[in-house]
Amino acid sequence: MATDPYAWLEQSLTTIRKADWYRSVQTINGTPGATVLLGGREVINFASNDYLGLAGDQRLIKAGVAATQEFGTGSTGSRLLSGHRELHRQLESAIASLKQTEDAIVFSSGYLANLGAIAALVGKRDLILSDQYNHSSLKNGAILSGAAVIEYPHCNVTALRNQLIENRQNYRRCLILTDSVFSMDGDLCPLPELLDLADEFSCMLLVDEAHATGVLGKTGAGCVEHFGCTGKQLIQIGTLSKALGSLGGYVAGSATLIDFLRNRAPTWIYTTALSPADTAAALAAIEIVQQEPQRRTQLWANVDYLKKLMQAQVAELKLLPSASPILCFQLPSAAAALAVGKSLQEAGIFAPAIRPPTVPTSRIRISAMATHQATHIDQLVAALGEFVIRNQGI
Ligand SMILES: *Cc1c(COP(=O)(O)O)cnc(C)c1O
Repeated sequence: MATDPYAWLEQSLTTIRKADWYRSVQTINGTPGATVLLGGREVINFASNDYLGLAGDQRLIKAGVAATQEFGTGSTGSRLLSGHRELHRQLESAIASLKQTEDAIVFSSGYLANLGAIAALVGKRDLILSDQYNHSSLKNGAILSGAAVIEYPHCNVTALRNQLIENRQNYRRCLILTDSVFSMDGDLCPLPELLDLADEFSCMLLVDEAHATGVLGKTGAGCVEHFGCTGKQLIQIGTLSKALGSLGGYVAGSATLIDFLRNRAPTWIYTTALSPADTAAALAAIEIVQQEPQRRTQLWANVDYLKKLMQAQVAELKLLPSASPILCFQLPSAAAALAVGKSLQEAGIFAPAIRPPTVPTSRIRISAMATHQATHIDQLVAALGEFVIRNQGI
């Protein structure tokens, strides 16, 4: 008797449910902002990566609509065939100018930028050293490349140095991979120390600025600017979908690097170019990032206010170390994180539970936006206070 070759799917879902790891989507209506309509009800939004509040900005919307009217909805092909438009080049120049690099290249998402760049830069004879808390796209890029992969303990430069001493000479090229702002923790990579190690051991260094671009640094260029490392040799990756409010990803670096990626990155060569609307919206966003630093100032003022209020009123909730608008507090189990997320939502606060396998330990992740009002933050902390009172001991 032949068995049903798909029966394992239902069994696997049952296991996922039993572990409280089951996931499903929640529907949001209307334009994104500091408050959103979630399941038909207005909630204060602490779940978004739209740090500067640009995804619902009229200027981005207008740019997207105008580009659609002028160039159509789809780009109809890969960049090397029928997909390239002047808009793509303008966006790449704008990214290079924001990052102060020689050039940049845009991909259809940040995930694809990481897969494509990593797979192009190293192969079977090479070594990747990767922070254990890196984003899924860095981890899967490392697997796709075929290089030997060693994870180093989170942000631990001493351990990384020892791994380099032990392993570097056995490989041809070496690539160090790290998030710059860790997406599910909120802390920063030790960039100056990583650059020194890369120098000493002749390694390439790739930093993922997904949550830093538009947010960190005086001009919003990211963590590299924040640490005063602008102009150093390294590979910067990022997304157009977080603070830039659009969709797409990029790599920024030397002209040679970018030229090489145009010839060797499979996730750029063999995929359809960014749509005109996404490209134009991202271009409008970069202009706003450069011309309206007050958005960044307001974002950081909100982060400060939120941290101080939490320390004063819900000190029981131990925040993970953070130097970004991402603030997380840990909970003892996936079930507990789900329960807290649900009770916050009932109190009109959208701050999701993040569970394994995304992270090793379950937590609530709060992200601040420039467009939050003080009253939004007050309501979040009041709701967290209610939760603490009800659960003395957590
Ligand atoms: C979100 C994210 C990505 C993926 O970017 P997309 O454009 O959403 O595909 C990559 N790296 C990190 C660190 C991220 O947080």
